[in-house]
Amino acid sequence: MADLRFDAREVTNQSPPYEDVDLYGSDAALIQAVKANGAGGEGKALSAFGRHWGRAAMFAQAKFANENPPRLDGNEVEFHPAYHAFMAESVAAGLHVMTWKADGARAAAPAEVARAARFYMVAQVENGHMCPITMTRAAVAVLAADPALLASLMPKIASRSYDRSFQPWRDKSGMTLGMGLTEKQGGTDVRANTTRAVPAGEGYRITGHKWFMSAPMCDAFLVLAQAPGGLTCFFMPRFEPDGSVNGLNFQRLKDKLGNRSNASSEVEFADAFALRVGDEGKGIRSILEMVQLTRLDCAISSAGMMRMALAQALHHARHRTVFQKKLSQQPMMVSVLADMALEAEAALALTMRLARAFDGAAANPAEAAYARLLTPAVKFWVCKRAPPFVYEAMECLGGNGYVEDSTLPRLYREAPVNAIWEGSGNVMCLDVLRVLAREGDVARGMIEGLGGEAKDLPGAEGAAVSICKALAGAQAESHARLAVEQLALLAAAAALRKSAPPAVVEAFARTRLAGPRGATYGAALIDSHEAAALLDRALPG
Ligand SMILES: Cc1cc2nc3c(=O)[nH]c(=O)nc-3n(C[C@H](O)[C@H](O)[C@H](O)COP(=O)(O)OP(=O)(O)OC[C@H]3O[C@@H](n4cnc5c(N)ncnc54)[C@H](O)[C@@H]3O)c2cc1C
Repeated sequence: MADLRFDAREVTNQSPPYEDVDLYGSDAALIQAVKANGAGGEGKALSAFGRHWGRAAMFAQAKFANENPPRLDGNEVEFHPAYHAFMAESVAAGLHVMTWKADGARAAAPAEVARAARFYMVAQVENGHMCPITMTRAAVAVLAADPALLASLMPKIASRSYDRSFQPWRDKSGMTLGMGLTEKQGGTDVRANTTRAVPAGEGYRITGHKWFMSAPMCDAFLVLAQAPGGLTCFFMPRFEPDGSVNGLNFQRLKDKLGNRSNASSEVEFADAFALRVGDEGKGIRSILEMVQLTRLDCAISSAGMMRMALAQALHHARHRTVFQKKLSQQPMMVSVLADMALEAEAALALTMRLARAFDGAAANPAEAAYARLLTPAVKFWVCKRAPPFVYEAMECLGGNGYVEDSTLPRLYREAPVNAIWEGSGNVMCLDVLRVLAREGDVARGMIEGLGGEAKDLPGAEGAAVSICKALAGAQAESHARLAVEQLALLAAAAALRKSAPPAVVEAFARTRLAGPRGATYGAALIDSHEAAALLDRALPG
């Protein structure tokens, strides 16, 4: 008689976990973008970094850090040990400081690209802890306005030792910095800030609140407040000069959609001690360079999340059989994945190209102009593309993609924040318009130059003309989203030209700049042979 028993424990046709991977060596687009943007010499170090961060243990730690969010305990925040472990890793790797020299001056090229490549790999594993890492590195740009203060802080900021202890920064082996700009009544509109600063003794006393202040266990914060001379930037340490705890009173931690390993607080300042950074009334100017750097990081981080989502989807498709064939051999799934591979590579190429502009800005006015015009455009496009991208990757895994065991739900919750903080989408487009208003000829020359770099590619020259027209027209603000999106696509085509094989560049331009395409991934005309090559490039089989 036949044995009719059924063993439900037997697991078949499920993909193995995507772990113990080499995040650098398995990413041909990253290797080539790093080389194309001047950091080819970093290859060996990046390879070691990619293997280290791609270990199964790292993915497991990321899960712990996000499943066990921080808790407010009095005026201190308690984090899960996994969060501290990530902080220690990223600080030891210098991600919070490697673009600065020991004295706080800019490090030589290709420091930005070398860091961007690492940051992109870290973003594939754990995102929450990257918030204080980003803020610490960007804060140095603001502190440069006060050379004496910067000189006293740099030995602690430049330290590769993560010191989680709660004590004055002078007594610690290393420090991190946060920022408090956003208030209840005004985030984007910081001019509406009501927090007040009154000169007192060697510094100021600050009274007011911040509606969002992330990573509240940082050792100090750059804070905007209204001084007698207007909106001003301040350095506010967690401890007073006499060693007592400073007047930062945390009200609660936000209950956020994602970004759960990171703490974001509401805080009141009660006569808190702070030092002025830069002149009174120059607060907005002080923070401008800082937000350019954090915006670059938002884009890199979103590109990294897209990469992880793509890798998970592709890995699954290569293991899962449906209708007697692997998903990776089903023509429509191949179209979806290939279209996603194009988008992910473009996001990467664009962010690495932008990082190179930061590397070159001090010595080359054209690179500085590129950074001014393209930072908001790249932040806008890449960060906006990440959430629907992660969603599509989730669907590639079918039901498994919706379950926490795959990392897709966490990535899906994490993805929108990069588009919101550090200037939301519309604000980025307004920033592009501002650059055009201030330096129209240079910016228009830059856009035409991008059209020239992408010359011969389908749709490129027409795109350059229509971007300039739209951004200069009477309806510029109303039409800005379309024009800025096109600007990012044109810049991506130009960036890909330097780092990707001609077939990838052509397919990107044909499906993005020349159309036609639909609203979903896979709704573009990519032939099957072309798609197969894109998938081979995206992840070794
Ligand atoms: C998880 C998290 C952590 C954060 N951490 C920090 C932190 O550590 N420090 C800090 O200072 N802030 C922090 N923020 C705040 C964040 O930077 C702001 O929320 C963000 O900049 C948007 O500002 P807002 O919330 O005031 O929105 P608003 O300024 O009210 O904007 C709302 C919407 O209106 C749009 N908009 C604004 N102006 C215009 C316009 N003129 N035309 C058309 N549209 C417009 C915006 O694009 C946005 O979509 C954090 C936010 C989040 C979600």
